[in-house]
Amino acid sequence: MTTIDTLAVHAGRSGLTGQGVHAVPIDLSTTAPLPSVHDGGLAYEQMAGGGAHREGDSTVYQRLWNPTVARFEQGVAALESAQEAVAFATGMAALSAVLLAAAAEGRRHVVAVRPLYGGTDHVLASGLLGTEATFARPEEVRGVIRPDTALVMVETPANPNLQLVDLKKLAADAGGVPVLVDNTFATPVLQQPLKHGAAMVLHSATKFLGGHGDAMGGVVATDAEWAARLRRVRAVTGGILTPWPAYLLHRGLATLPVRVRAQQDHAHKVASALAGHELVGKVHYPGLPECDPLGLVGSQMSGPGSLLAFEVNSAEHAERIPGAVRLMTHAVSLGGIDTLIQHPAGLTHRPVAPEAKPHARMLRLSVGLEDPADLIADLVHAIETTR
Ligand SMILES: *Cc1c(COP(=O)(O)O)cnc(C)c1O
Repeated sequence: MTTIDTLAVHAGRSGLTGQGVHAVPIDLSTTAPLPSVHDGGLAYEQMAGGGAHREGDSTVYQRLWNPTVARFEQGVAALESAQEAVAFATGMAALSAVLLAAAAEGRRHVVAVRPLYGGTDHVLASGLLGTEATFARPEEVRGVIRPDTALVMVETPANPNLQLVDLKKLAADAGGVPVLVDNTFATPVLQQPLKHGAAMVLHSATKFLGGHGDAMGGVVATDAEWAARLRRVRAVTGGILTPWPAYLLHRGLATLPVRVRAQQDHAHKVASALAGHELVGKVHYPGLPECDPLGLVGSQMSGPGSLLAFEVNSAEHAERIPGAVRLMTHAVSLGGIDTLIQHPAGLTHRPVAPEAKPHARMLRLSVGLEDPADLIADLVHAIETTR
């Protein structure tokens, strides 16, 4: 059996020896030579319609196909145990393609389990892409499915409060409606939603997959049918990932399992230290038993991950803390090698409706690879000096 550690290093790297290279080549060509009008035309038709590039064909045009992007897609598909993966310029471009593809057959209704990433909540609540959303708690999903429901969408662990959702139960409640799981927080190292009934898995590759805060991307891992629908939307809307970030994101996959496990270990220590601090209220971390009432860590997820949120006594105190840290950085985004702190209500979840907005007393941490003792000292200092 090939483990995820081995796949992470080798997936998407086949044929390099035959090309006489060891690292993945970055193919920057925007266009590709055509063998003839006839054969070029057939290759164009194949890919513009959502089909995969056929070995030996021209790749025609970078908006349709790029070899460096395709290698990253093979890597993600392998890690998520998916047939295929389709990569986009950002996570939001990936989500947009899913919404357009799901709604393409006239069904425009989306059931979304809150909380969600702020940008996702925004695009769904605004109906900007022509979908109509019903927001629901996990136990309400079955009751709000309609004949025109195209998609059920969920995040677990959710951004920003780390709520966990039972995916097997959700897929059963969806009753045949495809379930899209945003797996950005867990990564395939900790959770593989396709094994729990999801039809599609979405990542903001900008976060853990790249892991170094220097490349944006989005990717959807799914079956061949959905992949073809997504590639068709991608070809016409132009949201494809470009080769240079594809190279960086693919390189990030190799260290993903090692990073995820080390960061998780550090996050556990930070969460425990926060939970015992007199100025800290509730700590939201799936590794603390009270945050996992359904017992999903150990079954659905192999570990609690490296994102956590915590509450202090007042919104004013919470707003002062990010300005007082010295080692970690006050910044949005997550999943990279260094620790970031941010105020969800004020930043990432600013566009979310008042009834679903995270509490202004709460801060979110993405724990990195620094020594956890240094992180704890930095955070405790910031909390105590701003009280
Ligand atoms: C960041 C993020 C997104 C959006 O991804 P981008 O790459 O920023 O477009 C979607 N979902 C989650 C959970 C995220 O954290």
